[in-house]
This record gives sequence, C-alpha cells and structure tokens, in this order.
Amino acid sequence: MHKLVRSARFAVKTLRQTSLCARTITTTPFPEFADLSQLKSHDDLHKFSLENPEQFWGRLALSRLQWDEEFQSVLNCELEKGEIDWFLGGKLNASVNCVDRHLATRGDQLALIWERDEPGTEEYVTYRELSEMVGQIANVLRNSGVKKGGRVAIYLPMAPITVATMLACARIGAVHSVVFAGFSAEALASRIQDAEVETVVTADQGVRGGRIIPLKQAVDAAVAQCPSVKRVFVYQRTGADVPMGPKDIPLEKAMSGESTECAPVSLASEDTLFMLYTSGSTGKPKGIAHSIAGYLLYVATTFKHVFDYQPGERFGCVADIGWITGHSYALYGPLCCGATTLLFESSPIYPNPGRYWEMVQRLQLNHIYLAPTSLRLLLKAGDSWVNKYDLSSLRTLGCVGEPLNHEAWDWYYEVVGQKRCDVIDTWWQTETGGICISPRPSSPGAHIEPGMPMRPFFGIKPVLVDEKNEEVNGEDVEGALCLGSLWPGMARTIYGDHQRYIETYLKPCPGLYYTGDGAHRHKGGNYQITGRMDDVVNVTGHRLGTAELEDIMFRNTVLLVKCGDILVAFLVDMQNEDLPELHQQF
Ligand code: AMP
Repeated sequence: MHKLVRSARFAVKTLRQTSLCARTITTTPFPEFADLSQLKSHDDLHKFSLENPEQFWGRLALSRLQWDEEFQSVLNCELEKGEIDWFLGGKLNASVNCVDRHLATRGDQLALIWERDEPGTEEYVTYRELSEMVGQIANVLRNSGVKKGGRVAIYLPMAPITVATMLACARIGAVHSVVFAGFSAEALASRIQDAEVETVVTADQGVRGGRIIPLKQAVDAAVAQCPSVKRVFVYQRTGADVPMGPKDIPLEKAMSGESTECAPVSLASEDTLFMLYTSGSTGKPKGIAHSIAGYLLYVATTFKHVFDYQPGERFGCVADIGWITGHSYALYGPLCCGATTLLFESSPIYPNPGRYWEMVQRLQLNHIYLAPTSLRLLLKAGDSWVNKYDLSSLRTLGCVGEPLNHEAWDWYYEVVGQKRCDVIDTWWQTETGGICISPRPSSPGAHIEPGMPMRPFFGIKPVLVDEKNEEVNGEDVEGALCLGSLWPGMARTIYGDHQRYIETYLKPCPGLYYTGDGAHRHKGGNYQITGRMDDVVNVTGHRLGTAELEDIMFRNTVLLVKCGDILVAFLVDMQNEDLPELHQQF
C-alpha cells in the first residue's frame, strides 16, 4: 500500500560537508545542510528529510556521532521481515559518545545534577567524575564475567550510579534492561527470566517521597525464582543493613578495587544497546530492543532540536530512568550532546506541591520535561505553589505521556511559564526511541496550538489509516496513527520474539509502522493524539497492560477493596489525589 524507503546504499564520502555555517530556517539551525541552498524553510528541510532519508540521517550521523569506523551504508531494510539496519559497517561505542568525547572540552562541566529525594541535598557530577565511575563499574562487570551481549538487569533508584551502570554496560557491549525500581519482585522476576539475565545491579533501599522502598528485599524474592542469575551487585543508597547472600557483591567495595580506566569495546551500529519492557495488549510485557547508532543519533538530534538545547543550559527531565523518557531524555540524548542533565529521585508533591518549582529556582533549570498527570495534580494544588518561586531561568516547558488537556496547557503556559516559554507537548513511545511529533522544531516563531503535539519531527511521516486499512487523506480527519517513513530511533525487535515485533508493529498496516494510537489531523496538518486503540491503559504517562495491572491489584489490597469494578475504579483513582501514592507503587 504505502511505499517505504527500501535498501538504500550509497557512498559515505558523498556526505562530507564543505560548509558548516548555520542558517535559521528552523528553530535550531542544522549546520549539516547549510550547503543545500534549495532548502529555504523548515518545511523544505522536513520534505528533504522524507525524500532523502539517507542524505538527511547520513550527514547527521557523520557529524553528530563519534565513530571508530565509518558506516558503509545508511539504510538497508526489508520491512516485511522486520529487518531494518541503519549505518551498517559502522563501529562505535555509546559510552564514548556520551562521556569520553566530551572530556577534552568539558571534563569539568556538570554532566549530572542529582536531585535527591531529600530536598536541598542535591549532588553534582562532572563529565570527568562520570567517566571515572563508568570506567570502574565497567571493570567490575567485565572482571566478574559479564560479556558482550550479556543482559544486565538494573533495579536501582534514580541516581548517578544508575546512569554510570547503564553506560558501563554500553562500554563493554552488555545489554542493559532497566526495571523500574517500584515494580514488584514478580514483575522483576518475569523480566529477568524473559531475558535470561545473569547479572543484577540493585541498591539496599530506594527512597521516594520520604518513604523507603525495600529494593534488595524485592531482588532477593525475584532472584529466588530466577536460576539464571549468577551475581547481584548491591549499591548503598541508604546504608541499611540488608542481608547479603552468596551471590551478592557490595558494589562500592568492588569499584574501589578497580581502575577508573576501561577500554571501550568497538561495537557494530546494529548491536543492541538496551532493552526495555513495555506493556502489550496481551499479558506478557515486551522487551523492546534498541540498537546503538540509530537510537543514539535519534535521541541526540531530537533532544537538541525539540528543546533547542544550548550549551551550558541545565535540562530537567523528571522522568524515572525506568521508563523510556528517562533513558532518552535524562541520559542518552543530553549526554550525547554534552549537556547538563537532571536526575530526579523524588515525587512532584514531596515535601509539598512546590517541589518542582522550588527545584527549578534552586538549580536554575532552563528546561523542564514532565508528565501531564503531575501537571494536573499540581494545577489542583493552586498557583501559590508556583508563584512563590522565581522561574525566570525556564525556557521550554515539555511534557509527554498523555494528551495535555487545554486547562493544563493554559496553566503550564500562563502560570508556570508566565507566557514566556514554549509549551512542548511531545508524542512518542518506547518503540519509537525518541520524540516523533512535537510543536518544535518549526519555522522560527511558528504558532503553537494548545492541546496537541502538532508537527512531525524531521524524517517522520504520520499516516492515518481507517478500518479498511486505507489511508485517510485531507484535514480534520481521524484514523489509526501509523508512521510511513523509517527513522533511525525505531526499535529493531522484541527480545526473543521477533515474530511478535512483526505482528504488532508491521503487520496491522502493511508497509507502515503501526503505533496503536489513534490521531486526529487538524487543519494545517497538525496532529492530536486521541488515545490507545487496544486494551492497554495509560496511567501517569506510562503504558500498563493486563500483566502490570494484575500485579498492582495483587499488591494493593486497599485498592481492590476500594474498587468495585477494578479497572474503572483504578482509573478514577488516577485522576485524583491518590495518584502520588499510586505513582510510588509503580
Ligand atoms: P510509553 O511507551 O510507555 O512511553 O507510552 C507511549 C504511549 O503514551 C503512546 O503510545 C501514547 O498512547 C501515549 N502518549 C505519549 N505521548 C503522548 C502525547 N503527547 N499525547 C497523547 N498521548 C501520548
């Protein structure tokens, strides 16, 4: 039906740039295309990115990533088989791209700001310090037997050690599988079993909203059901005296005996960087796998251009690292661009609903990226929690996860941003790797319409499809949202079940990537997301399928008692003040 880009091969040397001068045809200039004088507007560049994806992504890949060996072709694809390869022949390492290459110019610049649960106790980590931590953990993992391709489950609180562990896996070619440190032992066990994980990294306890989360205890219960696990590294977040068994190894102690230098493994573009589980409409969560080069390029490019990130700014994505938003916009996107990024360990209402805004003032954040659910909750708490703080450092106000209703949009724009900042409602999914639809980038100064993500990113072509699988054309129309182009950040497979990947994303609308969301195309070609079309429930900005819901029901007897009809009552709770409590359970 719809033709997608097919095996594109061309000589990489034709991509080399002659001029790097910037032009402002789009909100953040792309120096890589400055020599193409026919590109006069944002729309021209968008069209170019769809018509010439190999040129577009090839040029960016050469200029924005550091390669050990340059790639031979930009895109090779047999879509029906789900074989999608970007940058074949290329070799690189994600931890080098996110850390090492910044050391010469910004070794002493902040890489991470750790906003610990206890307000006012933030800690700072420079690129040099991060590099040393990554080197030590990589040596610990390697010397304990973790090999290229080995899966490492990370069940840690939001902290620098978590970022360093993920990058340490990337350094030695191990595949990290972060499990949100709020999921139960059962959820952790099923993810460990599915990926046949040998190594787990956890902490004694987590702390969130002033409450202790017994992480090691959950890991002990999970590991008891997982014979594949050979070792468990335990980081001390609280210093609690937790029982240590024969597989358990104190992480800091192991690190102290290791060098801070660890030679990175040169990996193929399409080697897997990580897997992250997300819910499907059938019970079993899917281990969505992302590959190194394409993912890194896509998140770095979207990070830079959606938020117009400028050197020296402080970016505040408050999502937990256990979700894709944390992976892409707290870690990989910002660090690949040499940015300073926030790690937020707490809750939006701890110790009070002024937490985000007090933090923005104290840390002088220039961007904040959050979920509409928290915004609605904070809106209800009243303007006074915002007005008492100086938020003049803020430049962009991002959100992701659910539709941003008009009331919340207005409040974000008027009360939080004082009508100075762009409100950036971004649509994307675990599977897309990075932001696909967003009001920015755009032509400089272009209008932002409240309540919708609006504009496809470069290289993204939204297509609406009706029940007969036919494309719905025109404006003011609705349909199933599909993507009719290929972009480097898209997931490559579901771990251990490639057929399910094909069935879920590529079969429903042949020739297109099927998102599972519905959308409305408004006048001017602006997109609004109308919601999921399957039985997956979107709660606090994250997809939860039947498996997670059962898990939560299982663990929240109070919820069950409270609710007559389990699902409906659960959703009603999501809209109300109980949310933070539930949020902590997740
Ligand atoms: P996840 O992969 O868990 O991050 O969830 C992705 C899902 O969240 C999407 O498929 C949408 O249903 C929903 N979503 C994400 N961003 C938006 C948005 N800006 N507007 C509406 N729904 C969104």
